[in-house]
Amino acid sequence: MNLHEYQARELLKEAGIAVPDGDVADTPEAVEKIAERLGGKVVVKAQVHAGGRGKAGGVKLADTAAEAKEHARAILGMEIKGLTVEKVLVAPAEDIATESYVGVIVDRESQRAVVMVSPEGGVDIEEVAAKTPEKIFKVAVDPRYGLLAHEAMGLAFELFDDIKLVRQAAGIISKLYQVFVSSGASLIEINPLVSTPEGTVKALDAKLGVDDNELGRKPKIEALRDLSSEDPSEVDAREAGLSFIKLDGNVGCCVNGAGLAMATMDLVKYYGGDPANFLDIGGSSNPQKVVTALEIITRDKNVKAILFNIFGGITRCDDVANGIVTALDQTEIKVPLVIRLTGTNEAEGIKILEDRGLSALTDMDDAVEKAVAMAKEAA
Ligand code: GDP
Ligand code: MN
Repeated sequence: MNLHEYQARELLKEAGIAVPDGDVADTPEAVEKIAERLGGKVVVKAQVHAGGRGKAGGVKLADTAAEAKEHARAILGMEIKGLTVEKVLVAPAEDIATESYVGVIVDRESQRAVVMVSPEGGVDIEEVAAKTPEKIFKVAVDPRYGLLAHEAMGLAFELFDDIKLVRQAAGIISKLYQVFVSSGASLIEINPLVSTPEGTVKALDAKLGVDDNELGRKPKIEALRDLSSEDPSEVDAREAGLSFIKLDGNVGCCVNGAGLAMATMDLVKYYGGDPANFLDIGGSSNPQKVVTALEIITRDKNVKAILFNIFGGITRCDDVANGIVTALDQTEIKVPLVIRLTGTNEAEGIKILEDRGLSALTDMDDAVEKAVAMAKEAA
């Protein structure tokens, strides 16, 4: 789950990080009112779960409240990376001297939270990491002690020379790490962390992502979930107890088990195809789950073939076969289905499919290769 900038910046503010004033609105008129209250120059910012809003035209400076209203008119309803802008943040526009990057992520390699900073802020940090990795500075935090004061200072010295700025930045880095821990985040970023010509360091953007499995322990964070800004298919899948992530390819995948789902996506790629989704129907899959899964996969108009890859263990092949047959009874599926069934109750499962005029393969490679070929043919 991701927070919007306006939500994440409140958490930063509560922790004592310098964040400009500001408010969120969903109409141009309300934006004008906020801009009038703030007075002076303001920035109007699209609130969507996507980076690069600046480049996409979703961040605009305005000299007057009337201009802010005009910008809001343009930004509200705009699409950024497939997401519709429903709300904008209005904040006083800051004069910027420098833009840095500060973030904390969960790092698999060190198995720790890693605090990262870069003096190359305001831009895509992945690009900095790829092109000029020497401009990124990291500290892996020992969870027994948390981020130590001298570690925060060391990082801050990579951003600034002036000790006044260094001290402010170190304070912000320490507090950011605290918010990371207390919110259960897997990623938290301030990009840009700016210094102003007057010598103040402030957070001008805020990003926070939390693993869904953490939310049970963080009801305050879960309450901030904005379902309207998430992919509707992913929301429905979650409600049905399916793990589903939408991707950009055209081979729909329906698999039991997360590991097998990953392996299936790898194999789709290996045979020259592109998966349209990650979907794990889970261990003990009742037929209804399969029906929902098919319904969600077929909603995606990019899908040109659907691959079932079922390795029956706790999952019974006959349950899955019944789910497929029930789904076909309920809705007409217009794209070809390739089914691979093997394991528990394989013979029963294959019989159920054959009685319905469907066939199943037992070899994973054969099935994936066939699904990729069929998707290519239909594309
Ligand atoms: P993102 O593109 O989605 O990461 O959105 P950001 O909030 O980071 O804004 C993008 C860029 O807009 C920043 O890197 C700044 O250069 C600029 N920007 C944002 N807020 C302000 C502001 O208050 N004043 C000025 N001058 N520029 C701003
Ligand atoms: Mn940013």
